[in-house]
Amino acid sequence: MKITFAGTGSAFCMGADNFQSNMVLEVPVAKTGKARPQRLLIDCGSDARHSLRRMGLAPNDLDAIYISHLHSDHIGGLEWVALSNYFLCGGHRTSLYAMQELLEPLWEHSLRGGLEISDQGNSTLATYFDVHALAADSGFDFHGVAMTIVPCEHVVTPQGVMLSYGLFGDCGSKRFFLTTDARFSPEIHMPYYRKADIIFQDCELGPRHSGVHAHYDQIRTLPDDIKNKMWLYHYQAYDQPDAKADGFCGFVQPRQSFDLT
Ligand SMILES: [Zn+2]
Ligand SMILES: [Zn+2]
Repeated sequence: MKITFAGTGSAFCMGADNFQSNMVLEVPVAKTGKARPQRLLIDCGSDARHSLRRMGLAPNDLDAIYISHLHSDHIGGLEWVALSNYFLCGGHRTSLYAMQELLEPLWEHSLRGGLEISDQGNSTLATYFDVHALAADSGFDFHGVAMTIVPCEHVVTPQGVMLSYGLFGDCGSKRFFLTTDARFSPEIHMPYYRKADIIFQDCELGPRHSGVHAHYDQIRTLPDDIKNKMWLYHYQAYDQPDAKADGFCGFVQPRQSFDLT
């Protein structure tokens, strides 16, 4: 079992050598008895068609997709997956896992314009995906990986709050925590930081503290026993500080894989 970062960049990532922060969790044949490894794409951004191709994966190599929140670096590739599977890949069905409250705006405000009218005029999300509406207190299982959903504030304005739904995955022998996009929120994350064997932490770099992502300067204040199992991702293309000297495992590199067995 492994997780591979298709990209490790931010929403604005334009570099030839990096892509948006989407990951592929792969459960091997030996665990499932299926004909091929089972793959869960965690977030599907607008450049997923490029990042997945770089990994040698096509849309019909994906068995499931999890969506953490509705920014385009996390959902902008869904139209491509939907239409590719529907028209080019023999109607391959991919499961779509997302919190219940994300599904209606995902369709109405992000996908309906491009997907409702294809070869028929009344398509819905369920035309293209096997949709699994999730609740925060129940999580889901992906071929033996027990996923707990960890909601956290991402964008906070006077008019409203956008949450992002992180994942804590229990693979049996190893447990990982993926924050997804989140403000620096140790009060929410600490229980998961403590029990995880490996942490993947949203990390903003550069002079601007957006308040939308945890900034390196904030994450650096965490206790050493947390930082020494923490990898940083979703960073911009600024010069990187010496994360190892500051006690972290480091910055995840594009296409870097982590063994979760
Ligand atoms: Zn993002
Ligand atoms: Zn975001």
